[in-house]
Amino acid sequence: MRGMTTVEKILFQKTGQRVRPGDIVIAPVDGLMATDTTAPGALRAFEKMGGQRVWAPEKCAFVIDHAAPAPNERIANLHQMMREFARQQGIRLFEIGEGICHQVIVEHGYVRPGYLFIGADSHTPTYGALNAFACGVGSTDLAAVLLTGKIWLKTPATLRIRCHGQLRADASPKDLILYLTGKVGISGATYMSVEFEGEVFERMSLAGRMCVANMTAEMGAKTGFVHPRGLKLPYPFEPVEPDPTAEYARTIDVEIGELPPQVAAPESPDNVHPIDRYVGTPVHYGFIGTCGNGRLEDLQAAARILRGKRLPEGVRLVIAPASRSVLLEAMLDGTAHTLVAAGATLITPGCGPCVGSHEGVPADGETVISAANRNFRGRMGNPRAQIFLASPATVAASVLAGYITPPPPDEAHNTEAISTL
Ligand code: SF4
Repeated sequence: MRGMTTVEKILFQKTGQRVRPGDIVIAPVDGLMATDTTAPGALRAFEKMGGQRVWAPEKCAFVIDHAAPAPNERIANLHQMMREFARQQGIRLFEIGEGICHQVIVEHGYVRPGYLFIGADSHTPTYGALNAFACGVGSTDLAAVLLTGKIWLKTPATLRIRCHGQLRADASPKDLILYLTGKVGISGATYMSVEFEGEVFERMSLAGRMCVANMTAEMGAKTGFVHPRGLKLPYPFEPVEPDPTAEYARTIDVEIGELPPQVAAPESPDNVHPIDRYVGTPVHYGFIGTCGNGRLEDLQAAARILRGKRLPEGVRLVIAPASRSVLLEAMLDGTAHTLVAAGATLITPGCGPCVGSHEGVPADGETVISAANRNFRGRMGNPRAQIFLASPATVAASVLAGYITPPPPDEAHNTEAISTL
């Protein structure tokens, strides 16, 4: 019998239906999340639908992360609207400074292997790092899930990406996913499920896996999964693995053993090249953070490069830890001290300047090197600035030099299957 891909198997477990790509299902969800960008619209839609009580408040979470603290009166009032709804309904609301939605949802155990999880944010596939089927929806769809606990879905076809070899000591999970995004393209996996396989993932930390699953959104995917072999979580779990006889719409085989550090040049996350092509390009502003690369190991990688050094005049570095826990850990182990002593500015845990609403809009003509996941024109709030995407180590090395430059080899990137976030 034809086997099942990971996404088909999770849908089977939820609905009892054996599905094929294109089949429509209505499935019960295990949890949902909305942010200060999407929750207000969802709450208005919920009201219009005649909603009184949410289906299961303990499975829902709201996160104030995109514009936190509020940069203006309008957004402050939207935050207030979320707080009031959450209080009335008994929903947990993660306040300003708790962190980015995709980090706090994992840290607080709202998503687990085998879950079907819905988030009102396009980077919800990040939870595929935890072997969950997680996908982003708009505010109106989210309102319907808030009310019913069910989601209408078309079964995605699956793109399998098999990676062969291990990463070099100067390349990180971000370099790998940038490279793969360049290969697949920003619409190369539209509405697909992307499954990543290969021994490289077996020793990859949860943070690295999240970085990889996160950028399936840049391929246009509905969801993504990093194979659970080697996944370490602080609780026992039953992994959902694809069957050996599963059918894939497409399989890509990639040799990664000689992959150098990568950058995505302006103005698309799939405009990816080996870093050599841009070495020497002056940079004015570095940013480390986001749901892609704001975790402890990302800050530590930057700190190893910046320890005892000082940023040159005319170059700044903004760092937004992915969560309060990440910030606390970074304070405890000296990482935060190293970064600030080198001249970095630490800002509120949250999305920071990623989406361009506040906390670090670049000036006209500036070049940003960023560990974020998107670099479309105007992404950070100024269409006259240009953004390169890279790993946190490349960002740190580049701001220290004042121009784009590769990071030194760092065995700590890829040798520990640590479970820290
Ligand atoms: Fe979106 Fe950036 Fe926030 Fe991630 S960090 S959820 S990409 S705004």
